[in-house]
Amino acid sequence: MAPKSQRATPDPPRGIALLHDPLLNKGTAFTEDERDALGLRGLLPAHVHTQEEQMARVLQQLRRMADPLDKFVALNALHDRNEALFFRVISDHVDEMQPLIYTPTVGLACQRFGQIFQRPRGMFITANDRGRVASVLRNWPRKAGIIVMTDGERILGLGDQGAQGMGIPVGKLSLYTACAGVHPSLCLPVAIDVGTNNETLHADPFYIGLRQRRITGAAYDELIDELVTAAREVFPGVLIQFEDFANHNAFRLLTKYRDRICTFNDDIQGTAAVALAGLFSALRVSGGKLADQKLLFLGAGEAATGIADLTVAAMAAQGLAPAAARERCWLVDSRGLVVKGRNDLAEHKQPYAKNHEPIGDFHSAVRTIKPTAIIGVAAVGGTFTREVLEEMARINTRPIVFALSNPTSKSECTAEQAYQWTGGRALFASGSPFDPVKVEGQTFVPRQGNNSYIFPGVGLGAIVSKAQRVTDDMFMAAARILAERVDDADLAQGSLYPALSRIREVSAAIAAAVAESAYASGIAGKPRPADVLADVQSQMYDPRYSSYV
Ligand code: NAD
Repeated sequence: MAPKSQRATPDPPRGIALLHDPLLNKGTAFTEDERDALGLRGLLPAHVHTQEEQMARVLQQLRRMADPLDKFVALNALHDRNEALFFRVISDHVDEMQPLIYTPTVGLACQRFGQIFQRPRGMFITANDRGRVASVLRNWPRKAGIIVMTDGERILGLGDQGAQGMGIPVGKLSLYTACAGVHPSLCLPVAIDVGTNNETLHADPFYIGLRQRRITGAAYDELIDELVTAAREVFPGVLIQFEDFANHNAFRLLTKYRDRICTFNDDIQGTAAVALAGLFSALRVSGGKLADQKLLFLGAGEAATGIADLTVAAMAAQGLAPAAARERCWLVDSRGLVVKGRNDLAEHKQPYAKNHEPIGDFHSAVRTIKPTAIIGVAAVGGTFTREVLEEMARINTRPIVFALSNPTSKSECTAEQAYQWTGGRALFASGSPFDPVKVEGQTFVPRQGNNSYIFPGVGLGAIVSKAQRVTDDMFMAAARILAERVDDADLAQGSLYPALSRIREVSAAIAAAVAESAYASGIAGKPRPADVLADVQSQMYDPRYSSYV
């Protein structure tokens, strides 16, 4: 029968129940012996396929479809039928599949969630569940090791999608398994349905959630608190990842829980680590020191202040006083440079407010502040103009230019513009994918600073070491390892990140570094094994079928 680690229930299903259990089903790949032993005779056509043959069938079906949303639906259906085959397809073709199961397609899938809905995945905890959240969580049939949860208020750049934001935790957890081998049976996506202020959804007959405005204030906080407490009671040691909460809740909830439970916010901390890794890679090319950099951010939200906070911690680790490190990070928001004396600054921006004259526009800020790096995270397309990039090239031999806003239409500049307008000298990374670019005879291969380089490995490391917290030190370690995995050939072609095809190897190394950090700081829930990397690797899910008899 199924290996213990893959069993969904204490009594493993047989026959038709086995074919309908996505965690155990192998479809036409059940062998002759398995068909005899597991009551499957007659329930399957005669030919036994290998998983590779099944994968080829899935790929040719997908590649016949023109619409990414159709491919999303088909992949979802496969996920519901046969998880091993789904993850084999995703893991072996991560470059092709990630844009389908995650950004950009998942955004459209959330907007149309009600129309494409087939069967539920994960759990929906609603405002009506206050007072009974623990008993609702007990309806989940397995022991969750990781929960990704959203309240759907700020789904990607698409605003309030209510309960339909569920597409995001489902997609993120698929990436945990595909990129880092977190076992699918440990993954629990949660949509917190507190209502939606999106009136279009209230009027949509297919909308899946509560048709009411969002609960706020104490009622909201009490529901989140009850959920966090209940999750830790029902699933002891569970890692809770907050995802796509609006600014006003994201920072508050992170501050409230980060030192009390095993949790992190990927929009803030995962983004920070992937950007810091990009900076480390860029400095390998320019030969500069992190503590000597001057960063100018366009945008002052979750991504910007997350990156700034982790960069300050990394500069401090290199010996700079935190206050001096903060002086090296400058923010520009929709009202201009973040300076002291402005009375409109949200709490997360205040540590970066400078004693400086107000500056209204980004180009003037670049001219005045003379940054070594500009980091675009304002979701306003085209804001790294020709003048801005030429100015950066005048100030720096190797200007660092990160255009991280998504989707592509919001990117601050294209890869071609970044290289063209700096005479091929930009050290460039982007949030959205760009094709290779030929400038002045040289071919550049820009790579995406995608959070999926970081969060799967961090989560795996926290789970394997049974960490009680997720710390800044872990994210710094993750950034360092990611940058180390960029080889000289990558750097020579302008790539500041490794190829995505190496993601499982990279995630294992990140997980080992995160686990080492947990053991060293005394927050691991088990003794340090002799070989930390081997311990991590031994717990990574492999989607290739194992034998059941
Ligand atoms: P957010 O809403 O928290 O922050 C946006 C910030 O931009 C706010 O501070 C706002 O004041 C500022 N802003 C808006 N208009 C502006 C303007 N005209 N000029 C200057 N500033 C302006 O959003 P976020 O979570 O920080 O995400 C921002 C962008 O970064 C999004 O496009 C997101 O997709 C992208 N992002 C990319 C990655 C990645 O590449 N790995 C990770 C996270 C976020």
